[in-house]
Amino acid sequence: MLELSIALVLLILAAAIALWAWWRLRGFSARPHHYHENFGGDYFRGLNYLLNEQPDKALEVFLQLAEVNPDTVETHLALGNLFRRRGEVEHAIRCHENIIAKESISPAERHHAMLELAEDYRRAGLLDRAEDLYHQLAESEEGRSVALQRLLEIYQQEQDWAQATRMAERLIPLSPSEVHPLVAHFHCERATAALKESELNEARAALAAAREHHPASLRCQLLEAEILLGESQPRQAIELLTRSLQQQPELLPVALDTLTAAYRADRATLELQQLLVSWLQQRQDVSAVIALAALHQQEGNVQQAQSLLIEQLRLNPNVHLLRCLLNLLAPAEYQQLSAQLRPIVEQLCDELLTGEVAFRCRQCGYGGHDHHWQCPSCKQWDSTWPVRGVTGK
Ligand SMILES: [Zn+2]
Repeated sequence: MLELSIALVLLILAAAIALWAWWRLRGFSARPHHYHENFGGDYFRGLNYLLNEQPDKALEVFLQLAEVNPDTVETHLALGNLFRRRGEVEHAIRCHENIIAKESISPAERHHAMLELAEDYRRAGLLDRAEDLYHQLAESEEGRSVALQRLLEIYQQEQDWAQATRMAERLIPLSPSEVHPLVAHFHCERATAALKESELNEARAALAAAREHHPASLRCQLLEAEILLGESQPRQAIELLTRSLQQQPELLPVALDTLTAAYRADRATLELQQLLVSWLQQRQDVSAVIALAALHQQEGNVQQAQSLLIEQLRLNPNVHLLRCLLNLLAPAEYQQLSAQLRPIVEQLCDELLTGEVAFRCRQCGYGGHDHHWQCPSCKQWDSTWPVRGVTGK
């Protein structure tokens, strides 16, 4: 915070000196002598107000000081941005509106000021006004790309997937490899919402649209599997999911619930057991161990479940496995663990799992208990991956 304040003061001083020097030169060559002297005094009066946390007075001085014209637009833009960075959005808005109101500035400068003003509105939470400005800018050659990007961010924030899709589709020609997977996610969001309402046809239509943009997306395959389950076609769901997991085995924790549901619906839990066993020969996935132990337990083979967990715990110390094992111990077996040790171990497991990070964003490092297709922190899509290790799945 202190560093930021110092940086701001330095920035203001640098801007003041540069502007003052420029004005002096200009004043000597083109203006009456008294003009630049007044400017110097007024400028430092404004600066003084700013430094003394009196932004209202400072803004008045700065706005009167130099008329907005092609020579001073940059300075006014810098001033507006400075106010915004200080959190004084109302002053930033006044400053940027003041620029836009001038007819003497070039179209490029007007677009720049409109972008800044839209950012002010966003920061102030006036999303409607920001949207209006960005839509105007999106119609112009210069502002289109940035305006569409900002609209895309706003509509994602509002979870307005239809509008987000429209904006992204206009951005496809600019960066197809980045935008196609995004559009696929927006359609997947619509498909997920439709599935929740059991609107299978609507979900299918959204999914087909998603696939056109990203045919290899695991999310599409998962949704497809859920639709197949909804249509009582579990075998097709199983084939689809096992095929996708061969391509992206690290996503098993994300797909395992749907996969298990499909095997159950197909009354093929023995087949699921075999799949999990062969899976564990290649990869030590905690989710797969827990799913297999649960299958053994449901079939009454508690001993087998315990042996599996103990064997896997030796290979891969993991708190989920330990908790699972403790749950499976019968009262008689309590004695094997000291009566005092057990609550401590249980408490330790619970505490570890409360703050557990099972999935982490590879973009920004955000961690959480649940998987997200879009990182809640940096808003990147497809950046959240299962964490391995003591608390990982
Ligand atoms: Zn992130």
